[in-house]
Order: sequence, then structure tokens, then C-alpha cells
Amino acid sequence: GIISNEIALSVNNLDAYYGKSHILSDISFTARKGEVIAVLGRNGAGKSTLLKSLLGLATMGAGTIDIAGRKFSSPVPEAMARLGVAFVPQGRRLFSGLTVRDNLMLGRLKRSEKGSNGWTDEEIFAVFPRLKDRYDVDATLLSGGEQQMVAIARALVGHTEVLLLDEPFEGLSPAMIEEVFNAILQLKSRLTILIVDHNLDLALAISDTALVLDRGRVSHQGEAREL
Ligand code: ATP
Ligand code: MG
Repeated sequence: GIISNEIALSVNNLDAYYGKSHILSDISFTARKGEVIAVLGRNGAGKSTLLKSLLGLATMGAGTIDIAGRKFSSPVPEAMARLGVAFVPQGRRLFSGLTVRDNLMLGRLKRSEKGSNGWTDEEIFAVFPRLKDRYDVDATLLSGGEQQMVAIARALVGHTEVLLLDEPFEGLSPAMIEEVFNAILQLKSRLTILIVDHNLDLALAISDTALVLDRGRVSHQGEAREL
């Protein structure tokens, strides 16, 4: 892939809490522009919490997050969204009564302020061709894989620079996994991506580097192909 030397995101000595529970300790890493980082580790290791921390959805204790030339010690979701951080949570959450078109519209409305590098419908269909035929269908009637595509597409139509994907292949059939995998491959080099996955082979195949968490700490960090 094409990875720039420019830093997209840097996390420095981050500690994170839910209430009084101390979940992440002393997490540090940098992501270069265009880099895909696999975030790995057992159930409960803190992978989802790390993604959420980058949006301000967990409480930060010590540490900073540097993004787009700004330093945050307690990020809030609105500010992070404005800087182009988009999160596709674990599990698919689409609203019934909203078509694919509505979902993309919502993504655009949510982060219209910067606007410039939000994706057009044509760009979305180039990555997810099967959404073109489903454009006016209620999104909750789509297959699991198609819903995952809508969820990712909704994240892309803002001005996303950093895409956080939490278990994007979870519960998908092998054929759908392949389609979603190929779509994410097409996002490579256009975005900086953090991808959490339990399937090591898939996660490493798509990533440049890996960050392994163990009980809230970084236990390994390096080239994906070394693991
Ligand atoms: P999985 O692979 O099962 O998704 P994970 O690595 O994503 O696991 P997290 O969801 O980040 O793990 O959870 C890390 C720890 O934080 C776990 O011990 C979990 O029980 C706890 N935790 C997660 N969410 C909350 C919450 N909202 N409030 C309190 N504790 C939480
Ligand atoms: Mg998780």
C-alpha cells in the first residue's frame, strides 16, 4: 500500500476508564496516513474501548490524542467527527424506516461542516456496487453483509480521514466476508484505518501493522506480516 510518512493520528500514554473501572493503561502508537492497523487481542482486552477512546466515548485519564495538528486530553465525539474520525461500531445498527439513501444522507448531514472530501454516491457505488440496486430499500431489510456495507458507507460520506472499524466481518457469510474485505481493500491508501477483528488471518491480510492488546495494555506492536 501507499503509506505516507505523515502522521494521521498519535496516541500517547493513554489511560481510559468506564466510571471507576480502569480499562486501558499507557497505550501509545502512531498511525501514518494511509496505514491500516489491525487491533488484536482476546475478548475483553480493550479493543473496542480503544476505538471508543479515540472518539471520547470512554473517559480518558492520563495521555493525549494528537490528530490533525491538535492535541486532546479529553476528546468529545463532535470534535473528533469534525476532524474526520468515523466509527463503525461492533454489531450493525441501522434504523428501520430508513433507506440506504437516507442512511447516506444522515452521514452527510452529521459531518457536513468540512464537507470537502466526503464521498459521492458514485464513489460509494464503486466500492460497494451492490448498494446501487438497493438504494431505495429499507436498510434493515438488507442482508447482514449489505448492512455492514451501508454502515461503512455512511461513515465515508462525511469527510472521513480516520476510519475505525470494530469487527466488520462479525456474523457474515464467507462470501460476504470476501466482499466486505475487498471493499475495505479499496479504502486502503485513501484513509487511515484501525480495524478490530478476531479473525487473525483476515485482519493481518488487510493490515500493514498490528497492535495487540492484552488486559488493557499493548503487548505487541509491529509489522502485520511478522505475527
Ligand atoms: P471483545 O473482543 O469481546 O469485543 P474488547 O477487546 O473489544 O472485547 P472491550 O469491549 O473494550 O473489549 O472491553 C474491555 C473491558 O471493559 C472489559 O472488561 C469489559 O467488560 C469492560 N467494559 C466494556 N464496556 C464497558 C462499559 N460501558 N462499562 C463498564 N465496563 C465496560
Ligand atoms: Mg469489542
